[in-house]
Amino acid sequence: MICRFCGENRKLVEAHVIPRSFHRIDPSDRQPSRLVTNVEGRYTQKIRKGVYDASIVCEECERRFAPWDDYADELFLKSWDRFEKITDRGHEIGYSLPAFDYPLLKLFFLSVLWRAATSDHVMFSKIDLGPRESVLKKAIERSDPGSIDFFGVVLQAFDSPNVGILDPHPERFSGVRFCRFYLSHIIAFVKVDGRPFTEPFSSAALGPDRPLVLVQKNFMTSPERRIMRRLVIADKRKAQPGSQTREEPDKGASR
Ligand SMILES: [Zn+2]
Repeated sequence: MICRFCGENRKLVEAHVIPRSFHRIDPSDRQPSRLVTNVEGRYTQKIRKGVYDASIVCEECERRFAPWDDYADELFLKSWDRFEKITDRGHEIGYSLPAFDYPLLKLFFLSVLWRAATSDHVMFSKIDLGPRESVLKKAIERSDPGSIDFFGVVLQAFDSPNVGILDPHPERFSGVRFCRFYLSHIIAFVKVDGRPFTEPFSSAALGPDRPLVLVQKNFMTSPERRIMRRLVIADKRKAQPGSQTREEPDKGASR
């Protein structure tokens, strides 16, 4: 099959669009993890290996993504406690790290966006870059992270590490187009528009020579939590037709 990155006819590998570690899959867990997804008809999925697509890249091309995936894994998952909490009048409002490797982290988000845009997996069906896909691919080929504005990234982080994953989707802020990705507790807004950032995005965006800042988002009160909850409940109903699924099945249950 033709590798979508190098264009060569090679054996393709099971490539993760969102690295496996960001699905928080515990390899020692005997039960397959469940992925909460808002893809119609597949609200939760049992996944052992994470979401992968065997029609994107060859092994050699997938290896190109590895240092970027490893860096993001180290930064956001393994060393998340290194981030300092930003407070305002006694309230936690964000997280910051004084120094980070801009090229490695930016290329991680660029490559996740490219993988999602080229994937045929239903989870990434809303991500379409049109002619900008080739611009993005060229930058990845050169390992060029580009400027703050080039497919610029703004980050949020949920205050809880135990969140599901929703499908990435496009959205607009002040008319500028972004794609929103969920990566464990991290939410990334990647600008897919050629136009520059507007405020407040430009001050918060990922850039060289500035700290890495993530705006905190409360998970318990978030629309995402409500959506995930509804999806899980809908899925349970589908699995047990005719049965009454209560929202809090453990309440008063014998155990
Ligand atoms: Zn290839």
